[in-house]
Amino acid sequence: MEFKGIGASSGIAIAKVYKLQHPDLTVTKTTVEDTAAELAKFDAAIAKAEGELAKIRENALASMGEEKAAIFDAHITMLNDPELMSGVRSKVQGESVNAAFALNEVANMFIMMFEAMDNEYMRERAADIKDVTARVLAHLLGKFIPDLTLINEPVVIVAEDLTPSDTAQLNRQFVKGFATNIGGRTSHSAIMARSLEIPAVVGLSNILESVEGNEAIVLDGTSGEVIVNPSADVVAAYEAKADAFAKRKEQLKLLKDAESVTADGHHVELVANIGTPNDVEGVIANGGEGVGLYRTEFLYMDSSTAPTEDEQFAAYKQVLESMGAGKPVVVRTLDIGGDKKLPYLPLPHEENPFLGYRAIRMCIGDHQEIFRTQLRALLRASVYGDLKIMFPMITTVNEFVEAKAMLLEEDAKLREAGVAVSDSYEVGMMMEVPAAAVLAPQFAKVSDFFSIGTNDLIGYTMAADRMNEKVSYLYQPYNPSILTLVKMIIDASHAEGKWTGMCGEMAGDLTAVPLLVGLGLDEFSMSATSVLSVRELVRGLNMSEMKEMAEKALQMATAEEVVALVEETLAK
Ligand code: PEP
Ligand code: MG
Repeated sequence: MEFKGIGASSGIAIAKVYKLQHPDLTVTKTTVEDTAAELAKFDAAIAKAEGELAKIRENALASMGEEKAAIFDAHITMLNDPELMSGVRSKVQGESVNAAFALNEVANMFIMMFEAMDNEYMRERAADIKDVTARVLAHLLGKFIPDLTLINEPVVIVAEDLTPSDTAQLNRQFVKGFATNIGGRTSHSAIMARSLEIPAVVGLSNILESVEGNEAIVLDGTSGEVIVNPSADVVAAYEAKADAFAKRKEQLKLLKDAESVTADGHHVELVANIGTPNDVEGVIANGGEGVGLYRTEFLYMDSSTAPTEDEQFAAYKQVLESMGAGKPVVVRTLDIGGDKKLPYLPLPHEENPFLGYRAIRMCIGDHQEIFRTQLRALLRASVYGDLKIMFPMITTVNEFVEAKAMLLEEDAKLREAGVAVSDSYEVGMMMEVPAAAVLAPQFAKVSDFFSIGTNDLIGYTMAADRMNEKVSYLYQPYNPSILTLVKMIIDASHAEGKWTGMCGEMAGDLTAVPLLVGLGLDEFSMSATSVLSVRELVRGLNMSEMKEMAEKALQMATAEEVVALVEETLAK
């Protein structure tokens, strides 16, 4: 079976399918004659659930620490909770019903009771009961509950989509790749795959329904090809591809400490995008000169409550310290909304979430407390390295001024309380809304730097949803309209003695890079795995030629003409 999707994270995976699908746990009531045997089944299901939870606890302890692991202790205790479990037992015995039905009834009663309580802590316990009983129910029904932390052999995960917390749990040792029904190159599961360096293909439409689990599978994260039950020849061909990929990687590694400079001596900065502090390791291994975008929302999405100021401080400090002295780290403040949601911050349903109440709009609006907590954590971390703070989704000059004023208020309060804050952190903004790009000269007077977020800027400029495959033909980084906006932003920053970076996917695109060099982009921020191939490309370019080429491109009418121009210029 062959599938073709969008290559989201390069590399070859050869393994077995791990089908990630939550099972249907609907129960029906049946009468049981032998209640003793039914109770024995119930005890066996509890024992299996307990064994799994102990294993999950162990993995959570190793990867996420004691605090997260303790959640699973609570789940194990609940499995042995006398009220819950003896309620089920007496129902089976007294009413001669099946254990699955009895468990469902008793658990629902407890869930409803907890959900109705005033106390938030108790309401959260309802979710725990749901989790624990679903696990026991699955064993009673003979269904399989997927659990990514229990994977202990090489697999390719096949799923509808992966949530950020799914991706955070992936163990790189065993998860060789993933293939999803939905998503595009800039959807967040794709971005996470690249930072984890796991080969991935997204937007496959119907792969989940087409697999059973455990079949052999091969996947090419560059071309987007996925083959289930491949023939021996295909497997051999993929093994050869995997070899070639590994050799190319070794060859590029030679450029790890080389300068990012064109053949005629023009320097650019090649930095990387990260989602978690652990990603810094990959940035350094791939020769990244800093972090151009730390998407802090993953810190918020990865737990059931908002991260505290101290937790955030620890994460920011870790990134600054592990990146090392003099290496810039651009941290973006919370960019939530659009396709990114928080479990503890219910947002009302919106018809157009990408045009809705999101990112900086809510941070300086109804959710200032969340914003100010983050700002304090950042300011406290600022003394540990070269920090640059960046606001997302800025649309008007007033929004930037307001956000910066809040930052300065927190800065003043901290200093007054005797807390050390750096005197040299920069405060900049994402350029991802066309209105801001058009007004770049005015923004350049107030912002220390710009970072162009092409993932959104292209979407908003072309009026094409970045998640929708039907309009992906309009998602055109090389369209002269986009290049014109990019030029306006760069020129405006330079006129004020400021710098411009780019942290959207376009910055690591090998066709776009020559154009961006020619337009004078100062900093390129991309997936860590793209840094070395971009460095290799940049070192072969000539700045004066690229300038000339970019000038020509700006005069063209279509993206296709621009691509042809780049290809022709590079072939010379
Ligand atoms: C962008 O919009 O280009 C960007 C880098 O931000 P995100 O992909 O997180 O929206
Ligand atoms: Mg964006």
